[in-house]
Order: sequence, then structure tokens, then C-alpha cells
Amino acid sequence: MVLGIVFGNRREGGRLGRAPVVLAVAGAVAMIAAAAVVSLFPQRAWAADSTLPVAGAARLAGDDQRTRFVMDINRAVAFRIFALPDPYRVVVDLPEIEFSDPSAADNAGRGLVSAYRFGRFAPGKSRIVLDAREPFRIDKAFVLEPVEGQPARFVVDLVPADRLEFMRELALSVPSKPEEPADKPARPAAAVPLQAVPPGGTQGRKPMIIVDAGHGGVDSGAIGKGGTLEKDIVLQVARRVADRLEATGKYRVRMTRDDDRFIRLGDRVDIAREAEASLLISIHADAIDYAGIGGATVYTRSDKASDRAAEMLADRENRADLIAGVDLSEESDEVAGILFDLVRRETHNFSTIFARGLVHEFKGKVKLIKNPLRSARFHVLAAPDVPSVLVELGYLTNPKDEKTMQKAQWQDTVSAAIVESVSAYFGRGVAKNVN
Ligand SMILES: [Zn+2]
Repeated sequence: MVLGIVFGNRREGGRLGRAPVVLAVAGAVAMIAAAAVVSLFPQRAWAADSTLPVAGAARLAGDDQRTRFVMDINRAVAFRIFALPDPYRVVVDLPEIEFSDPSAADNAGRGLVSAYRFGRFAPGKSRIVLDAREPFRIDKAFVLEPVEGQPARFVVDLVPADRLEFMRELALSVPSKPEEPADKPARPAAAVPLQAVPPGGTQGRKPMIIVDAGHGGVDSGAIGKGGTLEKDIVLQVARRVADRLEATGKYRVRMTRDDDRFIRLGDRVDIAREAEASLLISIHADAIDYAGIGGATVYTRSDKASDRAAEMLADRENRADLIAGVDLSEESDEVAGILFDLVRRETHNFSTIFARGLVHEFKGKVKLIKNPLRSARFHVLAAPDVPSVLVELGYLTNPKDEKTMQKAQWQDTVSAAIVESVSAYFGRGVAKNVN
């Protein structure tokens, strides 16, 4: 359920009157009328652009009777705000903004807000997400113009509501004419014939390998004690892996992301399926409450998790879409049928073969956790016909791991080991025994 409510342009505001949630902010609309001037945002090139608005410090104030979120910004911008239930959250879509202190997100909550985060969401778009502890009403949302040396301020006020009230406001705030949805509509399932892709690749072409850097944009992933963001570390390693794979000349290589952007888990799977990939390697870094735990782990997908920790990790990783405010209610990776089961089983065998080889390759080069081969229900490994593994490089919550993972030399070692394991996998000719 994604509801569009456009603030910032009063003339188109006829639909505003339909929603109590919007009526509550009608007073604020005048304040941001000036912001409407910048409401046309050309799609910008992804590269950092010094003309982008720059957001500074963000903070929460107030208590559980009224909680205020404030973010400094160097000039007024237009925005779109909406609420989502289960879990309760506020999503604010903005034009592309440079966040001067991205690690400041995900701060401890206050009042009605349990946590918040922000970042780039898609080309030309940024997003702020506030997680709420309970149902709420958006009482105010506005941009204060800069005055007397003070920066502009983006402000959201939340007040408590009961669930019924929350849901009623959602229902009433459906715009009178369809808005462009905040999130790209779910792509139809990839129109690729269902077939397990053996290590030999497809039709004599070089095998296609998908290198998937986890998280990105509004979703930072795990955060280290020293402030390291998972999304940054995994992108650095993914780039090295992709470069090394390319350099062998033996594979076609595609990255799901090569910059700091958010990509839905389902879209990552679709990229692999549409490319008829022979292998997907998803790269992550973990976090856990025990600082003593460290080392790498290699995961395959299974409906039944290998252990409780793996199950909890998969739940955390699968939250990536939720973190960005994407509604998953219409998504399902269940496809019925005997053929599907057969293909999936075969694909799973290939995934396991690759995962074992990867652990073997890491031994003596990259620190491994005890029992490094595990499995759980990771959404990003859901392609029924693309062998897929997920590598957790180490633990950002382990100070030693956090430091190590940033070192260029270590990143080189780990990416070389991944590429070695790819060579071993494709060199094995496993396909002969299967097809
Ligand atoms: Zn992750």
C-alpha cells in the first residue's frame, strides 16, 4: 500500500482536502509554497553533483505525545510523504540530495520513532524512512525556509493514534487520481525459460556471472562500531571481484549495482534471471551482538535454516526492502509445479557445489567462522534457475573484522579467492553429469 500525497503545490492541491492527514498539514502548505518552485526535478546523472541540495544534521525531539523529526538542508525542496503499516513507518520521498553525514542515520529512536534512516533511493530520488513504535498520525510536515543564517529545515511531526485511526487515514488519503507510484511496480516474473544453468554456461557463450553488492542507497545494511557501513564495504569488494572476473576474459560479468543506490531484492533476482546468469554471488558483511564473533560465512538458500543464527540473519537481510519502504505484500517467490521443483533442486545442487568450493578456497587466506557453510531463506538467492550464494565477509561488530575489511590488501585477497573458486567451479565440468 503506497499512498501518494503531494505537498508543495497548492494549485494541484484539490486532492489534499480528501485526506484528514493532509488537512492537518494544510497550514504548513503555505509555508512550503515557495518550495514548489523547485518541484520539477530533472533526472540527474547519478554521479555526485555539487548543485544538489545538501542535507546536514538530522535529529529527533519531543516525546511519545508528539515526536518531531528535523533535518537541516541547505535549501528548500519539495517532498512527498506517506505512511505504511506493518511495521508502521513514515516514508518521505525527496529529490536527489547529498547527505553530508550518511553514517548519522539509523540513530537511536525517541518518542514515537524507534529509528530512522536516509539515503539515495533511485536515480534522482532520495528517501527518508522513520520507523514508528506504534500507529501514528502525520500532524505536520513542512520545509522551513532558511532565515538569518539558519539552514532550511525539513520537519515532520507525529502524534499517536490507534490502529483503526491509522488505517482509516491511509484509506482516506488515496489520491483522487493515480499518482506515479513511489516505488517501481513489481516487474512481472522474468520471461526466461525455466532451466537450471549448469556451470558450463549457456549455449556455448561465456558464462554470465552476477556480482551483487548488498544493500545501497537508503539501506546501509549493518553498521560497524567504528561507523563503517556495510553497503560501502561490500561495494568495494564487489567491484574488485567484478574487475578480476573480467580480467580473466573467461566470463561475462554484471554488477547489480556499481554505485550507492537502492535495488529491491526481487529486482536483483530478476537481473540474474533475465541475463540467464550461470552464477550469482551476493556480497554482504554481518553484524551481531557479540563483538567476539568474526570471520566469513557462505550461505546457500534453503527453506529450512541450518541454524537459528542463519535464520535470524536471513530475516535481517530480507528486511532490506522494508528498510527502503517498499511494500512486499504483493510479492511472492512461490511458483508451483513439479518442473519448478526439479529445476530448483538441481540449481540448489550447483549452488552447494560452488559454496563448498568457495569455503575451501577461503581456507588459510580469509578468516572463516566455525561451520562456515550455512543456509537459510534469503530472498536474494531465490532465482530457481540461477545457482546463487551469499557471502558474509565478516562481522562489522567485531572491531578486528571491521578494520580488516577496510584494508585494500584484504579486499584483494578475498576477491582473488572468490575468483579462484569461480574458476574451479566452471573448470569442473559438473554439467556433464547433470544434463
Ligand atoms: Zn547484508
